[in-house]
Amino acid sequence: SFFEELGLAQPLLKALAASGYDTPTPIQMQAIPPLLEGRDLCGIAQTGTGKTAAFALPSLHHFATNIKPRVPYGCRMLVLSPTRELAAQIAEKFRDYGKFLGLTVNCVFGGMPIFTQKKKLQAGTDILVATPGRLLDLIEQRALSLKDVEIFVLDEADQMMDLGFIHALKRIDLMLPKKRQSLFFSATMPKAIAELGNRFLNNPVRVSV
Ligand code: AMP
Repeated sequence: SFFEELGLAQPLLKALAASGYDTPTPIQMQAIPPLLEGRDLCGIAQTGTGKTAAFALPSLHHFATNIKPRVPYGCRMLVLSPTRELAAQIAEKFRDYGKFLGLTVNCVFGGMPIFTQKKKLQAGTDILVATPGRLLDLIEQRALSLKDVEIFVLDEADQMMDLGFIHALKRIDLMLPKKRQSLFFSATMPKAIAELGNRFLNNPVRVSV
């Protein structure tokens, strides 16, 4: 299959087969090869296009082939989502595609006790899915550090702007390492969103579905 031809790690191919994925969606076809090369990516895509697997599979492949011990309070990948529902869905898919990899996936958002989330972050996280406000609260309370982030995803950028997260996103940007891979997704790309993307991205591949 396409997924095998891409050279994805065996535990990922096994999980995809178990989920009945054999044909990639258009965004997966366009995004996965440059992401496996470590390129940044700017994608115009809506939910339902297979966007989550398009960014989850190459990231999981990177962690399957670059094993590192977890750093207390650290994380290797940060995915920002505008809503708790979407954050939970994304984390669920990472757990599913990564079920044979033994990675730690955590999901943090507002409206839940922060104490429980702080405990979960103590031992370190491979993949963290978060909403921006709660992420900043956790960093302020020294329960989380972004200094070890290797891959950063900003999902649903237009919704982020609509929900008033622009200031939070700018603050988070300043805390991320300069050397990292960045992915930026939005259903629409008006000028203000494209400008926000430029803040995060370095010579990105552009895809649109
Ligand atoms: P998303 O746009 O990421 O929310 O994905 C939409 C739905 O399509 C989800 O239920 C995925 O599990 C499913 N999906 C994504 N990629 C594939 C694929 N290559 N083959 C079959 N189903 C897929």
